[in-house]
Amino acid sequence: MHPERPQAPLRLDFDDDALIANWKALDRLSGAARAGAAVKANAYGTGARHAVPLLLEAGCRDFFVAHWGEVADAVPAVDPGMVSVLHGPLTQADAAFAKACGVKPVINSLAQARRWLAAGGGRCDLMVDTGMNRLGVAMDELGDPALAQLDVDVLLSHLVASEEDTPLNEVQRSRWMEARGALTHRRASLANSAGIGLGEAYHGDLTRPGLGLYGGLPRAEMAPHLRQVVRPQVAVLQVRDLEAGQSVGYNATFTAPRAMRVGALALGYADGFLRCWSGKGMFRDGEGAALPVLGRVSMDLTVVDLGAAPHVREGDWLTLDYSLPEASEVSGLTQYELLTSLGRRFGR
Ligand SMILES: *Cc1c(COP(=O)(O)O)cnc(C)c1O
Repeated sequence: MHPERPQAPLRLDFDDDALIANWKALDRLSGAARAGAAVKANAYGTGARHAVPLLLEAGCRDFFVAHWGEVADAVPAVDPGMVSVLHGPLTQADAAFAKACGVKPVINSLAQARRWLAAGGGRCDLMVDTGMNRLGVAMDELGDPALAQLDVDVLLSHLVASEEDTPLNEVQRSRWMEARGALTHRRASLANSAGIGLGEAYHGDLTRPGLGLYGGLPRAEMAPHLRQVVRPQVAVLQVRDLEAGQSVGYNATFTAPRAMRVGALALGYADGFLRCWSGKGMFRDGEGAALPVLGRVSMDLTVVDLGAAPHVREGDWLTLDYSLPEASEVSGLTQYELLTSLGRRFGR
């Protein structure tokens, strides 16, 4: 018998209503197509076991994970037939696992198609490469007899640069249309979050937003429709008074220009608050006072200036400014990295 674990000194404040509202907004912006949800990488670091049932409640019926090991994050919360595994079957064991639990493999190559058929086949999705050159069946392979034998639910492709207005989008769209004409399938899908913003011609039957669900801003014009979902919150472990001339943290990169009151927070680069935040970024107390980061971020700790919040005590909680577009500007990390790097020590 272990005693109950005490509360972690850091947690991810998760706004359920914002996630649901974001899915509904992206579904609406998808027009006649339905929105699915990319829930790979633990729902972009936000916690798939929490997010998946909320997305189901919102109306989502198509869930995309990357790894076979991520299936358990979605099933049994949702029907296995609603789950697609983007990496596809690399081995016989992967194909057997898909057959046994009823999730759909995304077939990415002729070898995967043959492997799936050898395992008994059944409903699957098919990824066609229209320019990413990462995963997917090549355009000149579409006539292969193995593909004609597949029972394809969603024929999908993935955009290279949908957050930009580049001619590549139209090139990929026309290849995707060509693939739709070449292979039997039930539904077609091309757009990720940013792709939804490219308009109706990109929507097909199903869209696959990820970033936008979790509060990322894929294209500036989508800002009015999407809300922040997660906010890292952290406890103050210790408060101390510095004299002018004393330094803070590893390598003494910050020196107090005057007497200062500072706090050590239970958050560091091991939690995904990477060292690029050193001397940057802002925490807030309950009243919204700005508490800037001082010196280097260490593995488990970050020090902030408590000058604007004289009432803050040890054990109080602070919230990190983590509006993703702005946090991306400040840190130099992408919105995707800001989400998926959030570590395992957060209470979720
Ligand atoms: C991750 C992923 C998505 C979601 O992309 P976002 O840019 O996060 O909306 C969609 N489709 C595929 C194939 C993906 O790998």
